[in-house]
This record gives sequence, C-alpha cells and structure tokens, in this order.
Amino acid sequence: MQEAGARRWESVDSLTAETRRFVAATEAMMASTAHHVSDGVENLRLKAIIHELPDFLYVKDRDSRFVFANAVTAASLGLNAEEIAGKRDFDLFDFEAARRHFDIEQQIMATGEARIDMEETVVLPGTAKPVCRLTSKIPLRNDRGEVVGLIGVSRDITERKLQEDLHRGQAKLLEMIARNEPLPMILEALVLMIEAQLTGIDGSVLLLDGEGTRLYHGAAPNLPGGYSRLIDGVTIGPKVGSCGTAAWRGQPVIVEDVMSDPLWEDFRGLVAPFGFRSCWSTPIATSENNVLGTFALYSREVRRPTEHEMRLVALATHIAGIAIERKRVDDRIHFMAHHDDLTGLPNRAFLKERLAGILDQARRNNRKVTVAYIDLDNFKDVNDGRGHAAGDEVLKEIATRMANSIRPSDMVVRLGGDEFLVVLVHQSSHDAGITRRLRDLQKAITRPMQGESGEIIITSSIGVAAFPVDGVTSEELLANADRAMYRAKQFGRNTLQHHDGDSSGVGMPRGEQEELHQAITADQLFLEYQPQVDVATGRITGIEALVRWNHPAKGRVPPASFIPIAEETGLIVPLGLWVLNEACRQARNWQDMGLTPVTIAVNVSAKQFADPDFASHVAEALERNRLQSRWLELEVTESVVMQDAERALAMMEQLRALGVRLSIDDFGSGYSSLAALKTFPFDRLKMDRSLVEALPGDKTAVAIASAVISLAQTLKLSVLAEGVETDAQMDFLRQARCEEAQGYRFSKPVPPEEVSRLLQGQLP
Ligand code: C2E
Ligand code: MG
Ligand code: MG
Repeated sequence: MQEAGARRWESVDSLTAETRRFVAATEAMMASTAHHVSDGVENLRLKAIIHELPDFLYVKDRDSRFVFANAVTAASLGLNAEEIAGKRDFDLFDFEAARRHFDIEQQIMATGEARIDMEETVVLPGTAKPVCRLTSKIPLRNDRGEVVGLIGVSRDITERKLQEDLHRGQAKLLEMIARNEPLPMILEALVLMIEAQLTGIDGSVLLLDGEGTRLYHGAAPNLPGGYSRLIDGVTIGPKVGSCGTAAWRGQPVIVEDVMSDPLWEDFRGLVAPFGFRSCWSTPIATSENNVLGTFALYSREVRRPTEHEMRLVALATHIAGIAIERKRVDDRIHFMAHHDDLTGLPNRAFLKERLAGILDQARRNNRKVTVAYIDLDNFKDVNDGRGHAAGDEVLKEIATRMANSIRPSDMVVRLGGDEFLVVLVHQSSHDAGITRRLRDLQKAITRPMQGESGEIIITSSIGVAAFPVDGVTSEELLANADRAMYRAKQFGRNTLQHHDGDSSGVGMPRGEQEELHQAITADQLFLEYQPQVDVATGRITGIEALVRWNHPAKGRVPPASFIPIAEETGLIVPLGLWVLNEACRQARNWQDMGLTPVTIAVNVSAKQFADPDFASHVAEALERNRLQSRWLELEVTESVVMQDAERALAMMEQLRALGVRLSIDDFGSGYSSLAALKTFPFDRLKMDRSLVEALPGDKTAVAIASAVISLAQTLKLSVLAEGVETDAQMDFLRQARCEEAQGYRFSKPVPPEEVSRLLQGQLP
C-alpha cells in the first residue's frame, strides 16, 4: 500500500481539487457546530450536498468513532447515516483491517499531521471482493487549535486499478513475447490476467494443431485438471461444444447454458461433474484469419457474457494470437536453423543439440547407441558430371531413402555435402540387428536412380562406432565413426567398417590429406609395372602402371589406401597427371633402350575423366615424351562411364581421335552392363580378378567368364583376364580363347628395371 508522507493539510498544495472542496465544506460544517461535534448539521443545504457526493466523506472523534458519514459511506457499510454514528471500525471490519485503520488514525490525531492519498484495499462487510480506495485523513481542530477528531475523504478506485492492472499485464505479456518466453507461460499469464479482471470466471486457451483438426491444451490455470485432460486433443467440428465449434466455424460461440445447448449435446456428461454452466469461446486467429486456437471463459451461472467481458476476450485473443504466431515463426526459424533446406534432414547444429542428450539417456538406461558416418562414394562425379541440379535430386532421394530405413527413435543427419550421420538407439542392451540394419540402409542407397541422362547408382562408405565401447562423448564417437568411414573408403566402394578400437587409425584421417598433397609435390610417389601377356604365346604385350606411395613414416602405402581419398579430395587430378606423365616417360625410356615397344596402360579415375582438360593433358604428355599415341592405353572402370554417359562418350571420342586405346577395367565386379560395352568405344575388356579367382573349379564362374569372353569377341573387343595366378586358370583361358592375361602367374607389379629385364628376355 502506498502512503503519502504525513503533512498538515492546511499547508498542503498538492491536495486534489476535490479533496480541497470536501475539506472546505467540512470546515464550514464544523464551523457551524464548533463546540458540539455531535450536534448534527444545521445547514440543510450543505448537508444535502454532502450526502449527494459520490465520494466517501466522514468525520470521526478522537476514539475513531464515526461522528458523521455521508450517504455513500454509510451505504457501503450496509447502514444508513443515523446508524453509523458512534460505530468504530472494529464493529464493521475484520479485526486486522480495523486495527490497521485505527493505528493510522490515532497517529494522525496524535501528531496533528494529515495522511493524504493512501491507497488501501478493503473488504466491505457482507462482500467478498476487495475494493480499492484512495483515502486522505486530515486532523480536525477546534478553534483553539486542538485536535478533536479527523475528517476522512475517500474514493473508490477499484475500476481504475483494474484498468491499470490490465495495462500493466498487457505490457508484461508483450514483454514476455518479445523475450521469447515459453508459450505455455505466456498463455497462462494471459488467462490469469483476464481472470483477475472478472469474478467467478475461469479462462482457457486451446491450441489448434498443425493439421487444423484437433485442439490441444494451451493454458487453463484455474480449470480443474481433470476437465482440461478430458478435452485435450478433441477433434473440432460443427457440434463440438463451444471451443470445438468456434475453431470449426472461425466465429465466436456463446453458449449460455451447456446443459441445454445442442452444441454441447455430446459433452454434457463430461462437463456436468465440474459444474460449469456457460461457456463463451472465441477463435484466436492470425492476421490472415487462420485459426490458431480458442480463448474461452467458463462461468458457473447460466448467462451471456457482459460487454465488458467480451471486450476482455477480444483483448485476450489479440494477445494470444501475437504470442502463438510469434512462436510458430520461431519454431520455423529454429527448424530452419537445425535442418538442411535441401533434404529437410536435421543438420549438424541439431545433432550437436541432441546427441549429448541421447547419450545421457542411454547411459541412464544402460543402452547402446550406434552412430554411422555415411559418405557417398561417387557423388562428386554426379555433381561434376550431371550438374548440381541432378546432384541435388540425388541427395534428396538418398535422404528420403535413409529416413525411410530408420526407426522413429533413430535419427539421420546431413552433416554437409554428401556426408550423413545415422544415430541408432538400441532398443535393448543386446540389439544384434544393427549391422544388418546398416547394410540394408547401404543397399537402399545403392538402388539405381533414374536420372535425366540415364541411370545413376550411388554407393556409400559407412564407418560405425558405438556408445559406450567406442567412445562416451559425442566428439569421440563421431571422430571414431569418421575414422572407420575412411577405412571403409580404403577397402573400396560400398563397404562398411566398424571402429577397430585403434584410435590412432590405420587409415588416413583428414589431417593427412595435406600429406598426400605433399606426396605429389615432394616426389614420394612412384610407379610399379605389371606385365600383360599374350595367352597363346606368353609374350609381353603390355605393361600396367600402378602407383605407390613411399610414405616418409609409414613406408610403402598401396594405392587402395590413398586413391579413394585422392578421389574424394580432388587430389586425384594432379596425382593422375603425374602418373600419366611418369608412365609415358618410362615407356619412352624403354623404347629408347631399344626394347620391343609395348602398350603402357594407365588407370584413370572418374574425376580425371570428368575434367574437360583431360584429353589435352593426355595429348601434352604424349607430345612431351615423344610417345606415339597407339602405345598408350587408358583404363577406366564401368562406373566412370555410367555416371554421365553423354559427357563420358564425348571424352572418349576425343581420346580416340588422339589415337589412344581405351579399356574397361574390372569388368564383372560392378554392374557389368552390356549397354556400357555396346555404347562406348572400348578397345579392350579387362575381366575382373573376382571372376578369374574361382576358375576353373566353380561352375558359375566358368559360365560367367565364358560369357564375358564371347561377349567381348562379339563386340570386337580384345579381352584380358586380371589376377591370373595359376596354371589351371591359364589353361581355362587358353581354351576359352581369352587373348591376354595379367597376374602373379607371370609377374607381380615390379620396378621399371625389372620390366627392362623381362622385356630384354623376349628380344626377337
Ligand atoms: P587395377 O587397375 O585393377 O589393378 C590391378 C590390381 O590387381 C593391382 O593392385 C595389382 O597389384 C593386383 N594384381 C595383379 N595381379 C594380381 C594377382 O594375380 N593376384 C592378386 N591378388 N592381385 C593381383 P594395386 O596395384 O594394389 O592396385 C589396386 C587398384 O588401384 C588398381 O586396380 C587401380 O584401380 C588403382 N590404381 C592403381 N594405380 C592407379 C593410378 O595410377 N591411378 C588410378 N586412378 N588408380 C590406380
Ligand atoms: Mg587397372
Ligand atoms: Mg583391374
């Protein structure tokens, strides 16, 4: 309660005009009855005026007994003007309140100092609701200047206080909205603010779901919890109580009596135990008039709302609308910040936010969590070869496939580019199916996709790490899954690797990309050569150049360990260029030594093939080393030409125009597409080691190898068998009329001096 400082009323300028008038009138009144305060008022006109006043005016004696009170004062206390004389506050108010008033009055009379504009809350006799008053009490003196009592002047400011509370409440709500406080808190404060303005009314907010079909609990701080739960999730419709109907119609629905209104027919039994009789509901809508929810007031009386109540409802729906819309915008922004817009999958930020929580929960429930790092093997080729729009489509399709292959408790995240992460929460402590589920996911990725320029097949490398064995923090798990993924890449495309517990990593973590870059510039790469022989005569007809890396610390590193990384990082282009030049230089060297000229075969990866300058690089390498183009053969795998057929065909035509030979490498390891063989101008088919391996014991292998050989013959391609290790394989190949072979049976890949020796041995 706010109290003005004690002042002598005579000297106070700040008295309100009205107070001054009362005081003046009372003074006049008192002057006429100066000696006998209780003598009553003689001046009837004055008396009439005082009784007409809308404000409270009274005089009390030194004992704080009413001497006189005007009509409103008496009426407010349930008495008439005569009855009140002689009464004390102790006779009228509860003891606490009476004591408070008494103490103040006694202090005023003792000190002779007025108390002006005290704000006080009083509960009047026979009422329940407190009223708010602004009261001034002024000491009353006789003509000798002695304090003989006091004059009280008071005004009911309950309405004004409510208005002020409402304004303050509104400001607070808008501040809460601006501060982005949780929506339930804002809505609850809103309902409480409206309820505080009314008597016997409970409010509620229901929120319409995204589909616009059901209403869910928003806020109802004073409705019985049991009732709120019963209506939570109700489907809106043309006859669904007040709220369900209001949301359905988009119009306010005023039900005076829920017990007789047909709209409540199906809900009467539900509401009856709670004693509500009327319910007035108004839709909360966006500025475009889309319904967001409802605001309802419940009363236990059968009645219509007053105009005042409807004004409050209008205010409430307006504020609720702002709060809900703001929340939706925020949710959208939050969604956008945590999801990737291309695929709609959660992103790295989302993962960061959630993974720690998932691991915490797993720790508490003694569960395992598996994270799988998925990197698409050949996505860059699609992007480079078919354009970004096609690449985007592929990513979207793969994202959908992945999202469809996981359970609701799991999560797929796009980490960026063609990297994804799957988080699988184990349903039990021994969930054995995880690897199978990941393999299924890998298969789903590999299913052919129909692109505009033909079929696209994407493979993936997956690295797996599990909580808690492979790491207990998000960072550890991700790092180990990433490492396992790199290992998977080294094992070749479309493989899955589990973290092997050695976090130093057998493979090549990203930091070592730099090393690979150095390898190219610092001359750490070298070539070995593997002869290709004529099956009928055993003479060397060609040599395949195979790259190796002499790593300063690790020593000799095989191409399978670094070619995939070179492909991923784009380093394959400079690396491939180095191989091409070095192989041509070596071939020139052998010829200069007077050895029988043989074809030099160089492996070319997709990324190199997609480089528009590739043909000119080849031409330059030949020219620089004065090597005739017919001695150079380029080996490409099927996937290289399958990715962007048109572009690949154009590149092949350019290379053929140079006079270079083209072979299809590893045929039979992948899709073994007859179409590829027919469409592209290959000179030679290299049958993959996996087909040769099982020869001649395995009947299926025999059938396939025979078919591939005769297919090559039909298409006028020469055919070479890779990985020939045994005499039995040689015998089969001879019978099947395979023309050439390559493998340990003749020679492992060897240094150039060794090749010179081998070539010398077969001088004519
Ligand atoms: P590839 O082109 O199919 O090369 C044949 C691979 O089979 C070589 O492995 C070779 O050592 C191996 N090999 C040959 N005969 C036999 C045999 O009788 N038995 C067995 N078990 N293996 C045999 P390497 O050298 O490890 O190369 C692996 C792959 O790395 C190559 O497969 C090729 O795809 C790639 N590669 C090698 N050098 C280069 C290069 O300079 N550029 C590109 N882009 N790729 C390269
Ligand atoms: Mg090869
Ligand atoms: Mg091969």
